[in-house]
Amino acid sequence: MQFRDLKTQYQVLKPQIDAAIQAVLNDCNFISGRQVKELEESLAEYVGVKHCISSANGTDALSLALMAWDIKAGDAVFLPDFTFFATGEVVSLLGATPVFVDVEADTFNIDSVKLEAAINQTIKEGKYQPKVIIPVDLFGLPANYPEINRIAEKYGLLILEDGAQGFGGMFKGQRACCFGHISTTSFFPAKPLGCYGDGGAVFTNDDELAEVIRSTSIHGKGSSRYDNVRIGVNSRLDTLQAAILQVKFQAFKDYELDKINEIAQYYTDALKDVVKTPTIPAGYYSSWAQYTIQLENKEQRDKLQEDLKKEGIPSMIYYIKPMHNQTAFAGRKFDEADFPVSNHICDRVLSLPIHPYLTEEDQGLIISILKRVWEE
Ligand SMILES: *Cc1c(COP(=O)(O)O)cnc(C)c1O
Repeated sequence: MQFRDLKTQYQVLKPQIDAAIQAVLNDCNFISGRQVKELEESLAEYVGVKHCISSANGTDALSLALMAWDIKAGDAVFLPDFTFFATGEVVSLLGATPVFVDVEADTFNIDSVKLEAAINQTIKEGKYQPKVIIPVDLFGLPANYPEINRIAEKYGLLILEDGAQGFGGMFKGQRACCFGHISTTSFFPAKPLGCYGDGGAVFTNDDELAEVIRSTSIHGKGSSRYDNVRIGVNSRLDTLQAAILQVKFQAFKDYELDKINEIAQYYTDALKDVVKTPTIPAGYYSSWAQYTIQLENKEQRDKLQEDLKKEGIPSMIYYIKPMHNQTAFAGRKFDEADFPVSNHICDRVLSLPIHPYLTEEDQGLIISILKRVWEE
């Protein structure tokens, strides 16, 4: 059994994907081919923002956003303590200081009360200038944007939505990747919308920022080809990936996103009285990058994973370590009392296999084995 079954997805979409790849091979426009522009336009339309600029990966997409705002040494950037490493990595890469904020036990997303406290604490200490909040739409669920917007406005901060896992998710009818002044996503193969390698995208409604981000992603390109007006990077989505994504995006919109929501609901109905199942608050819709249950303690979690493995059921621990305990940040001093929830959930989370091609039979097997080994 696969944790996220990309092989079956390919078998289902094979004729269209093979044809899309062949078309790129025929044209030989491997960089900035027409498929890249077409994809960017369709992604922007779906998300409901004016501009989409594709990039080489989701990490670069975050960096490009922070570079466009000139985030640098002396700046504080607030982000959840429970996320993939890249969310904080990009902040440090640019010399700025990531401030990790505890998350909510139910949604896994940044805790807005603790966010405001962290901003006030940073202002009080006076060492770093608060500049940006990076909410993460973790496991597919958009963060608490009404509160985050209120706080950002109150303190004059920018919002960079890390929608790497959130693409397709919704809040009150609006799609993930529209909630930041700049928003980003990732097309890493296992993300809700994945390509066949690395890929990412930046979204914004701001014309000027869009131009700067586009330029920065192509060596700081100016209006003509050999005029470079700023220091940039080389971060483009290649034409092959764009062509593959065009096919996969259609399937995503046509049925994959609906299907994965049905599968998640089926898990929740079957497991809600057995373990702590994910919470989707009213008004929210998830794209289910992960289906993550919580056990009572680390020993139980680790044993359940071991028992599932013996029965051939793959599961993953996202994330085993909070950001503030990552070795790369060992030089910083943190107070464990600031992170009770992220410390707690790192010992208790377990992500189960979920993807749009999970059969009823396999899901039934996962549920029955999980119930059985859990009761033993
Ligand atoms: C995957 C991921 C990224 C980075 O995306 P890549 O395309 O792998 O560079 C950033 N943030 C979060 C929350 C992610 O899950």
